[in-house]
Amino acid sequence: MLKKTDIIIIGMGPVGAYLAALCGQIGLSVCVLEKEAAVYDKPRAIVLDFEVLRLLNYLSIAEDILKTSVPALDYDFLNKDFEILSSRQQPQGVSPTGYHFANLFYQPDMEVAVRKKVSELSNIEVTLNCEAESFSQSDEGVSVTLRTADGVETIEGKYLVGCDGAHSMARTQLGIELEDLNFSEPWMVVDTYIPAGQDTISKNAQQLCDPDRPTTCVPSGLNRRRWEFMLKPHEKHEDVTQIPFIKELIRSWIDPEKVEIVRNAVYQFNGKIANQWRDNRVLLVGDAAHQMPPFMGQGLCAGIRDAANLAWKLGAVIKGTSPESLLDTLQIERRPHVRAVTQGAITMGEIVCLTDPVKVAERDRKMIESRKSGKPFELPVVPKIEHGILSDPSAGHVLPEGFLDINGEHVRVDDITGMVPLLIIKDVNNLTPSDWEAIELLQAQSPNLRLCHLEGDNAASLKLLDPYKYLHMMMENVEALLSKPDRIIFGSGSLPLLAEKWRSYNTGIDLEDLREAG
Ligand SMILES: Cc1cc2nc3c(=O)[nH]c(=O)nc-3n(C[C@H](O)[C@H](O)[C@H](O)COP(=O)(O)OP(=O)(O)OC[C@H]3O[C@@H](n4cnc5c(N)ncnc54)[C@H](O)[C@@H]3O)c2cc1C
Repeated sequence: MLKKTDIIIIGMGPVGAYLAALCGQIGLSVCVLEKEAAVYDKPRAIVLDFEVLRLLNYLSIAEDILKTSVPALDYDFLNKDFEILSSRQQPQGVSPTGYHFANLFYQPDMEVAVRKKVSELSNIEVTLNCEAESFSQSDEGVSVTLRTADGVETIEGKYLVGCDGAHSMARTQLGIELEDLNFSEPWMVVDTYIPAGQDTISKNAQQLCDPDRPTTCVPSGLNRRRWEFMLKPHEKHEDVTQIPFIKELIRSWIDPEKVEIVRNAVYQFNGKIANQWRDNRVLLVGDAAHQMPPFMGQGLCAGIRDAANLAWKLGAVIKGTSPESLLDTLQIERRPHVRAVTQGAITMGEIVCLTDPVKVAERDRKMIESRKSGKPFELPVVPKIEHGILSDPSAGHVLPEGFLDINGEHVRVDDITGMVPLLIIKDVNNLTPSDWEAIELLQAQSPNLRLCHLEGDNAASLKLLDPYKYLHMMMENVEALLSKPDRIIFGSGSLPLLAEKWRSYNTGIDLEDLREAG
């Protein structure tokens, strides 16, 4: 086993495995510690949005995940008689990243694909069946004590990342408190397999707003379907998880004999966020840093965004191209975003979990009214990033994907460049000498930055195809756009201004300034 490593990751759930692979790809040495012997073979998350699928594809695994996924269609809210109260139109077609806007996937397949990538990288060492018991840290590094079947040992690294889930040992040992957003409801999750051709239920996601038993019913991958049932205060876990009871719950949708129940589990859905995501050489991401109710399908998505946000920063700090304070921007950028999404999920939960007849009638009336007036019932959406390393308040959106023409095939630019900053010029033939100076300044700050353009020709720059026109729309009135390696837009506008702002972040980061800037 490697005894000294750049990064030690505790937990090889989906977030820890993804972070390990990203760090491995950018050349860091990684040691991953995982309690369990193998990938957990049952799903929890079922939705990957278009941004997160693109981030996962930094490992070239999107196609593997999509083999057993289905696109998410509309989201119907039904009354207890299964009549439509309201319907949220899911945008269809191709999203800015070239994938469907939301994808219903099978989590074990995704985790297997991520771990396969991990296994291909010789600079990642994985230890399964071991429990990280404690750690200590100094200004020089971290030391983790772990227990394996052979006894207790210690490993050392430069940084430790806690990807160890909701009951994180890393977070607990640091004494970091969770902010409680005051939502707590018990639900039972039932995952099923329904053979092809047997599933006669609507392909839309359905939210049954029955005050007696609020229920979610949603396709959860190819030939799979999930039900989530809110539990009543008096119901006992051991009673509701009996198969005959579950079959009766499912019967309102489909003949339960056509359905194979592959898993059922009771969860307390809640919304909690760690108050601190970094303590010197220890960082927290994924469920270790936040938990949210699943009503927006964003818990894992948030963890993948955290990992993408952190990986390139660890690379830049360890390779010495950025100051260590860059690591504080993980929390500055991600925490407010996660908090907003969690609030959104709670708002959705408060809409669907209603049991009070007066409030239920009022909700139903509003939904019907909005449907009849043709205005969609307002539901929360995933916001842009508002805080952190952004050149101006309009930055923080997801960068649309550009494509390259390689021997007549459209290839994603991310596949060619990897996880690096991208500078996209609208018309490379229109640049002035001071623009070229600004480009040189940017390249001096970030030697891995790749130059791309939409119009014109220049051998030093990659010509991007924009088949879905998202880049053209975004760049209608701007000369250039700079994306961070996690594909969040740093800023757009004139090249000299972008270069100056990017330089200021690479030379010294004023954290107070960043917090306020958002
Ligand atoms: C019912 C339900 C539905 C959901 N639906 C969605 C959805 O549709 N979309 C979405 O994005 N998210 C969804 N989520 C949330 C999503 O499942 C989680 O956010 C995600 O799985 C968290 O991943 P993680 O890697 O951070 O943590 P985990 O998956 O909890 O992984 C943590 C890992 O750390 C290991 N570990 C813990 N402690 C130690 C230790 N001391 N030493 C060694 N190893 C350790 C554990 O064994 C585990 O493998 C849902 C969650 C639930 C419960």
